[in-house]
Amino acid sequence: MKLLTKKTVLSMLLMAICVFSTGCLDNSTGNDDNEVLYSHVESPGLSANDFLSGETFTSLEVEVDYMQGFAPNEEALDSLEAFFKQRLNKQSVSINEPTEIPAVGEASYTASQIRALEEENRDHYTSVEDSTLRAYIIIVDGQYEDGNVLGIAYYNTSSAFFGATYEQVSGPGFGEPSRRLTESISYRHEFGHLFGLVNIPGSGTEMQTNHQDTENGRHCDNDSCLMYYAMENAGLFDQFLGEEIPALDANCVADLQGNGGR
Ligand SMILES: [Zn+2]
Ligand SMILES: [Zn+2]
Repeated sequence: MKLLTKKTVLSMLLMAICVFSTGCLDNSTGNDDNEVLYSHVESPGLSANDFLSGETFTSLEVEVDYMQGFAPNEEALDSLEAFFKQRLNKQSVSINEPTEIPAVGEASYTASQIRALEEENRDHYTSVEDSTLRAYIIIVDGQYEDGNVLGIAYYNTSSAFFGATYEQVSGPGFGEPSRRLTESISYRHEFGHLFGLVNIPGSGTEMQTNHQDTENGRHCDNDSCLMYYAMENAGLFDQFLGEEIPALDANCVADLQGNGGR
């Protein structure tokens, strides 16, 4: 409240100054966007240290939006929260109650469509003032443009997941991975990228030992690790799965610990 009052006074002051000057730029007042001090449109990995360490941000809050018909599996979100508690140096971690957003009905989405959807639907942003890092998850009703991935990390605090691909990959049938398992792996894997895995330049999450599977991009070379490339690939996914969510292997954990994580 105090801040608002100060801002109001400030804007009145500026308006008064404007009256007496020419060429005044209106870029400073009367806009809630001014509260956004932390850029959320950087490359994935660039907020890795802010996720991992407790230095700048002591809390993490995650907003979840899903298109009608594609509500996230609750146990998978619990599993994601447990993953945060296990690996991040935060005093508190919370995943907000998921919010339904209108279905768009596209068969597939491009990365720029996903960014536009975030612009339209995201409500919570990081503010340095309250020491809370805020991340964003969106679950859409189609597939990704390349058709084959379960999820993508697309901004420094944002990841998107593809409901139609979940439906294709998992089911109640014999040998099919459950939704709980599929979504848990998928959410954890994309956040692994946001934490800078594997070897993402500028993330500060440097490889303590060389373990990058360079043929498959920013992934781990261990086929039983969460960050193995097949873990986000709809076609390969179930070939590497057991009954349980794959853990991060020792190399990936060491990388996170090297950048303030645990
Ligand atoms: Zn990946
Ligand atoms: Zn690994």
